[in-house]
Amino acid sequence: MTTTLGIWAHPDDEVFVSGGLLADAARRGERVVCIYMTNGEAGLSYGQPSSPADLAALRRRELETSLAHLGVRERSFFGYPDGCLRQVSEQDVISRIHGALDELQPDEIVTFGSDGFTGHPDHKALSASVGGAMCLWDQPGARLNEVVMSTEWKDAFVPALNEFDAFLPGHPTASDDPDISLRLDDELLDAKVEALRAHASQMKNLFDAYGDDFMRALASREHYRVSRGGERAGTLSSLSNPKVVKVFDRSASMSLV
Ligand SMILES: [Zn+2]
Repeated sequence: MTTTLGIWAHPDDEVFVSGGLLADAARRGERVVCIYMTNGEAGLSYGQPSSPADLAALRRRELETSLAHLGVRERSFFGYPDGCLRQVSEQDVISRIHGALDELQPDEIVTFGSDGFTGHPDHKALSASVGGAMCLWDQPGARLNEVVMSTEWKDAFVPALNEFDAFLPGHPTASDDPDISLRLDDELLDAKVEALRAHASQMKNLFDAYGDDFMRALASREHYRVSRGGERAGTLSSLSNPKVVKVFDRSASMSLV
């Protein structure tokens, strides 16, 4: 059985950048696991400050509901301090991620690229640590998929998201040449939108401001750069040429373009 491992900094990272890929793997009956470096306790709650303990508990509850929409049943938390991943011993982070890789033996790993998608320092630190753990693990058949943003997506959605300070200065960066592009079918899109909505403390303001149609359009595309691996059999890995763009559209019989 193919195993997909999502490695994230905060609860809600998984669905925002990769909910379709994870839900599709779960729908195929594959094993999907998400691990989180932090509980997301340093963020805002509905746009307002909150006590870290309360917010951590709330975000873990929201995550449970969100992952259920995606069909993801397994998750674990490393408990590092939110917002301070750079201050944690990188060797410690790498060692724990390596331990997860060794235990789970994933075929597909999904995480942030070096730009951290939003530029969040935790995302960037995580990306570097996953790279270090992958080198240590040294399983050439496993594939590392890093989320990237297309220029089209950036132009369509980033101006609105900037109203909510979603990106750090100098971000986002866009790629005109992602290795994999997913277009979610209606079933996956329904699941992803509800999974986004479940992270209410983080997403309600966005839904309220722009509405479901905007969120649906935002959620309908995902893009990845394959930074290593791809030799092991698996649905995504079955594409031997990583430059092939894969489109998820059940009505079009999973057409490749
Ligand atoms: Zn995050």
